[in-house]
Amino acid sequence: MSEDQEEELEVFVVALDEDGNEIDEEHDPLAHLAVDDEGRLDLTYTESLYRRMEYDKGDRFAIYKLMAYFREDVVRGGKIFCAGAGALGNEVLKNFVLLGVGELWFADFDDIDASNLAKSVLFRPTDIGRAKVDVAAERLAQMDPDITLRPISADVRFGIGLGVFRRMDVLTSVVDSIDARVGFNRIAAALGKPWLDAGIGELSWRVSCWDPPGGACFECTMDDTMRYQQHLPYAPSCAPMAEAIRDMQRQPTSPLSAAMSGALLAQEALKLLHDVHMDEPPKELTMPHGAQFYFGGGDPYLETQLRRPAPDCPGHDFWGEILEVREFTAASTTLRELLEKAASVLGVPVQATSLRLGFDLIHELYCHPCGHRAEYFSPARSRFVDLRCGECGGDARPDYKRALRVTERFADRPLASLGFPPLQIFLVYGGDDRVAIELTGDEKEVMGER
Ligand SMILES: [Zn+2]
Ligand SMILES: [Zn+2]
Repeated sequence: MSEDQEEELEVFVVALDEDGNEIDEEHDPLAHLAVDDEGRLDLTYTESLYRRMEYDKGDRFAIYKLMAYFREDVVRGGKIFCAGAGALGNEVLKNFVLLGVGELWFADFDDIDASNLAKSVLFRPTDIGRAKVDVAAERLAQMDPDITLRPISADVRFGIGLGVFRRMDVLTSVVDSIDARVGFNRIAAALGKPWLDAGIGELSWRVSCWDPPGGACFECTMDDTMRYQQHLPYAPSCAPMAEAIRDMQRQPTSPLSAAMSGALLAQEALKLLHDVHMDEPPKELTMPHGAQFYFGGGDPYLETQLRRPAPDCPGHDFWGEILEVREFTAASTTLRELLEKAASVLGVPVQATSLRLGFDLIHELYCHPCGHRAEYFSPARSRFVDLRCGECGGDARPDYKRALRVTERFADRPLASLGFPPLQIFLVYGGDDRVAIELTGDEKEVMGER
């Protein structure tokens, strides 16, 4: 550091006691501690009764040194995933970038339309028609060029390898449908991770910390009505104008509820991040696993609802240890090779193995009017599914599979050609056991090198 720069720095060093009162030098019980070459004490937050604070206005993240609980190194080293880049996603992503989260992954498959402009801080009128994730990435990079941004235009349930989620410190989701929430809940459960979820209305909002590994998950809170609505094309949860809203495919939400819930979700995400990175995080950062914060905006109130795990809830299937196979990639590994690997691990013949998908995979389209039959691979509930006949353009009938075996006609085709993303993790059953196998050969390409 040059002398000029040194003169510009304003450094304040203050010692505070437990109650936040300044401790003068004479009574400073840490005055005997050694300082470093530059004359500073180690100011990292510890469980000691008090700490020193230092503020350097030339340091973008100096604010962390004033905070009692958040640590700069933890936040800068964090990897967070956010499903959704709409109104709420804008708020959450903006908060993560302001906070300096080191690596931010986010996914959405929508383009920007005029109605997004009233609610989304990162979008401008000139962005209409562009992909939400691309525009969000541009604006976020302007805010902080040092953050690693990984925008993905995909359906989070099917288009992103589970190995990506597995490598994240914190999973958050701000999607707007029940079906997408269930999908994300299953992913988190499979990997044994908690996840944060937010939902907004006109005046009200909620933020939840679902905990498939040890507490209540999103599906624990689903009643029969929600289960029914899950399979509707668009399913807003309880609203007085539910039917009209469903017809319009829009839920009335405001940028205000998005800002409030987006702020709380980001704060809870920072707690989770510290929980993952620190052996003993400060007790103030304890994650409220299974808790839901509900803000009723009419006659305003905020309450914490502790949800209980529901008996027989299907949302808690933990896949256990993941077998990393470095030779396997989506582009080069066939279904047969995957099943053969599973067979050898499980000690059963390959004919006894079965890859359980957890969703309906379309593998063929048949057009009754014109008799055309064609291969077509897509999850049935993907947003990108296109059931038009390739010959006459009419509606074709899809054929589904929920599990794949070595006898499939396409067993010798690479997994990518069957619609599976790189770095995917597959759950294969055989005999009385099962094994989760990752296409770890895709790791470098997907995760990048850092
Ligand atoms: Zn559950
Ligand atoms: Zn046809």
